[in-house]
Amino acid sequence: MDSFWHHKSPGDFEVLQGVLDVDVLVVGAGYTGCWLAYWLRDSGLRVALIDSQQPGFGASGRNGGLLLQGPAQLLSEAGRLLGRQNALEIFQWTRRTFDWVQRLTERYDFDYHVTGSLYVGGDKTERAEISETVALMNDAGVPARLLEKPDQPPSIQRMGYDLAAWFPDDGMIHPLKLMGALLAEAQAGGIHVYRGSPASSLEERAQGVRVSGPGFAVNAERVVIATNAYTGEWLAPLNHLIRPVRGQVLATEPLPRIDHAYPVYADHGFNYWHQRPDGRLIVGGFRHLALEEEVGTELVLNSRIQARLDRLTADLAGRHAAVTDRWAGIMAMTLDQRPLWGHWRGPIWTAIGYNGHGGTVAPAAARMIRDNIIDGTPVFAPYDAARIGETGE
Ligand SMILES: Cc1cc2nc3c(=O)[nH]c(=O)nc-3n(C[C@H](O)[C@H](O)[C@H](O)COP(=O)(O)OP(=O)(O)OC[C@H]3O[C@@H](n4cnc5c(N)ncnc54)[C@H](O)[C@@H]3O)c2cc1C
Repeated sequence: MDSFWHHKSPGDFEVLQGVLDVDVLVVGAGYTGCWLAYWLRDSGLRVALIDSQQPGFGASGRNGGLLLQGPAQLLSEAGRLLGRQNALEIFQWTRRTFDWVQRLTERYDFDYHVTGSLYVGGDKTERAEISETVALMNDAGVPARLLEKPDQPPSIQRMGYDLAAWFPDDGMIHPLKLMGALLAEAQAGGIHVYRGSPASSLEERAQGVRVSGPGFAVNAERVVIATNAYTGEWLAPLNHLIRPVRGQVLATEPLPRIDHAYPVYADHGFNYWHQRPDGRLIVGGFRHLALEEEVGTELVLNSRIQARLDRLTADLAGRHAAVTDRWAGIMAMTLDQRPLWGHWRGPIWTAIGYNGHGGTVAPAAARMIRDNIIDGTPVFAPYDAARIGETGE
């Protein structure tokens, strides 16, 4: 099952066959693997990036296309989880993505638009969270602001949300086109990218690792695990640390403009939508209606959730809208709601478990891993994969 984004190919890649020797092997070509390949392109290291299917097959090619600053949680919540200073530090890291992406637009078009975004909430708890987040962002120098009901677009007022926050620096992208740009740059810099090459075993050796799959083996000084929700399927010691959960999304035919041309995040971030410049609505969410059902790595549509997405779409469009694409995607949750990125042990690094928000988080993870591999710069301590422990316990 493909997503709307999959109508664009991220490039042409070969299947890996035989034995390959590299300095760094990156397993998994989603946002994380593609950004890492991009960052490593000028390192002088021999680097290979492999994907079991095709770059963008995972969550990165199935998401909502929203580019939102900050970690998965609202900044207020992140402050409680990580401590205020740490929350602000990771927030600033994710903000750097917009500069990195902007630089790429000089050579590539991936439908990148800085539009701002609206976070809307209804209940009392959310009201407090939203207000605190805006205050924290203002402290961090971002001109976020609260929008009371009368200042919200009519379609959102009709949905009955009490309070909204306006985040002016957020935006949207076409995920597959972005990954295509990253990979084009990486390949031009000598990085080898392979599709259809599923890693099935990892053997630690006196010097480095040997990662094998059907018809291939890679001897690498270091390996970076970027297989996100699928990690437990091939690396048993990490299985219990990552919970794969499913999200549902749809895309419509091009429609007349609705009354807001920016991404909206609602209901504690479970629901989200935006209208692309071509008029298509991308609408996702309602996972909270089936939290126990929507678990696992199987790519299946949930008809109950898709029906709710249809209703939301009709509310937004003000009429019936033909749906051209429906899809599911798998995200990776961690037990402590914190990603696991950095040096795990010996020759192994991980960058997994973003808890449902990766557009600006994955580039930060990849950048820190690159710096850690090249010159030992410490990664962001609260997310450090070293906390996995030697045995994965
Ligand atoms: C429905 C949905 C909507 C979302 N919406 C947004 C959004 O709007 N904005 C946002 O910022 N984030 C969003 N997210 C989250 C975001 O998409 C993810 O956090 C991000 O894409 C994770 O990137 P990744 O590279 O870590 O993982 P993935 O993109 O999942 O990549 C992992 C890759 O590993 C490959 N792989 C798996 N097993 C193997 C193996 N054994 N060997 C080799 N390769 C393997 C897979 O094929 C895949 O390509 C959403 C996620 C979902 C599921």
